[in-house]
Amino acid sequence: MEKLAVYPGSFDPITNGHLDIIRRGLRFFDRLIILIAYNPNKSGLFSIEERMDMIRTVIGADPRVTIDSSPGLMVHYAKEKGAQVILRGLRALSDFEYEFQMALINRRLDRDIETVFLMTGYKWFYTSSNLIKEAASHGGSVRGLVPDIVLQRLEEKYESQFTKGRKG
Ligand code: ADP
Repeated sequence: MEKLAVYPGSFDPITNGHLDIIRRGLRFFDRLIILIAYNPNKSGLFSIEERMDMIRTVIGADPRVTIDSSPGLMVHYAKEKGAQVILRGLRALSDFEYEFQMALINRRLDRDIETVFLMTGYKWFYTSSNLIKEAASHGGSVRGLVPDIVLQRLEEKYESQFTKGRKG
């Protein structure tokens, strides 16, 4: 049987920490769906389309990877696609409580789907999309923490701030 996992997240934007989980996940699963699981009432920095676009650019033409988005429940999405696993990454202890709760509720919602965790690579344990945005919004360099395409898109988003910063 084909082993299919769904890797859900906001990916606003994708970071090298996410990519590390994707690459390592692909060693265990035949196929991986990267799912932008979004809340229609919340808007991020990047639109869903922009996030998908950046992921597509970074992943390239890998037939094992699909990129999708959904506003609904992860377990429903996974079931519909025939996935057996929800893949998640764990950074510091601070991720643990939330991830633990999510895994338990998801298991209650559907016992056939297991959440599988991979520990972050030590290089990425402090890399979060939020910190990346925070640093980039103030003109801090996040080179090396995100793929080049993301660096470029962040610079475009915050260009006005950078210009102001340079003048001021
Ligand atoms: P973030 O928490 O950075 O906003 P997401 O909501 O997109 O990111 O996260 C999706 C999944 O990827 C979560 O399981 C999260 O813990 C994991 N993840 C995010 N960043 C990293 C990282 N640097 N290393 C390992 N896992 C990560």
